[in-house]
Order: sequence, then structure tokens, then C-alpha cells
Amino acid sequence: MASNRRAFLTATATAATATAVGAPGVAATPATADTGRPLSPAPATATAALDELLAGNRRYAAGRPRRPHDIVGHRRLLAGGQHPFAVVLGCIDSRVVPELVFDQGLGDLLCIRTAGQVLDEAVLGSIQYGVEELRVPLVVVLGHERCGAVAATLGRLRTGAPVPGHLELLVEEITPAARRTRALPGDWAEHTMRAHTAWVRDAIRADPAFARASVVAARFDLDSGLVALLP
Ligand SMILES: [Zn+2]
Repeated sequence: MASNRRAFLTATATAATATAVGAPGVAATPATADTGRPLSPAPATATAALDELLAGNRRYAAGRPRRPHDIVGHRRLLAGGQHPFAVVLGCIDSRVVPELVFDQGLGDLLCIRTAGQVLDEAVLGSIQYGVEELRVPLVVVLGHERCGAVAATLGRLRTGAPVPGHLELLVEEITPAARRTRALPGDWAEHTMRAHTAWVRDAIRADPAFARASVVAARFDLDSGLVALLP
């Protein structure tokens, strides 16, 4: 972790009273959409938020997405303020789109995506915005199988060949997990992804800046479409 991270977060916390992009709060209940039906209240606790995400994932995996809030009226309601109920830190992989994977709609998730869901100062600041300013109760770190960033890391460790340009940061962040799991039997890439995703979760959990939120790690299965929590 970069040495200036603490200073950055301290400065960000000090500035936490700055004007937010959207009004804080987690339990907003949009009155109606253009269907005239009341919309479901946003989950107000970490447990309820996780339950909603996993239920949405089951809908996605079964091919029965509901795509909540995906309507013009809801967009208009959200124009004045946002109330996402979960932060998702996931990979940039085009097959792992959080709003689709969890069957959520406009305004539901604050999504941060980097290759291999690696942390940097911009990511940490973005999570802190969600947790402190928007009072989001849940942070999900979402890894997935057959991740290209993990593959690049293992390739570098196998061959010793340098990786080009900005990819170096990604490989450096994933390398500790790859080294820790290299001797394990089975799929090295899978072990690395799990260890790295759990490490990112633990790093966020250990940071006092995020103490108000629950932080979990999960794995997305490209084949089944299902998300499973990591221990
Ligand atoms: Zn990936």
C-alpha cells in the first residue's frame, strides 16, 4: 500500500463535510415511478443490502432479471440525489458488470472497477465517498474466475518477463497473493484470485476510514453466473 495513503485518507476524512454530489442516506424510498407503483425501499442495513444483492444474483443466474428501477421515472427521481445501498469494487472484465450480475438498477450500486479489483488511492477515496458521504452500509469486493489481471501476474512470475507500462501496478498488487498460493495443489490462478480478493477485503476492513461499513469478499463464477461469498 502506498505510504501516502493514510495522509490522503485523513485529508479526505477532514473534508468529509464538503458538499456531496448526492444527498446522504440509505433508506430512501422513492415514492413512485412512471408506472405509478411504489418502488421497494432501499436496504438500510448491511445484512439487508447483502440479501438483496444475493437475491438479485440468483435472478441473474437463472436468466430472470427484474432490472429494478430501469425506467424513465426513476431516472428523474434520482436526478436530485442518489442513495446507493452497496459499494461494489470489482474487475473491469466485460463479463462481470455489477449492475447486471446483481440485477440492480440505476442508482442502486456505487461501482468502482479496476483490473483485478486492485486498490489505489483513487479507489480508496471512491469507497470512502460512498461510505462516509452517502452512508452506504455494505462494501463488496468482487473477484472472478479466469481473471486477465491474475493471468498476467502469474505469467510474469513464471517467465520473469516484464509487463508493459501501467500494467506493472496491477501485477505488483496481485503478486503477493500469487506468491502465497504458489505451492498449493490445484488451480494457481483460482487460488491467487481468492487470496487477492480476500486480501483487498481485509485491507478495507482494517482501515478505520471504513469502520462504519460491513466489508465482504465474493467470487463470481463466469460459467454459472452465481456469486459466492469468500471466507
Ligand atoms: Zn478480472
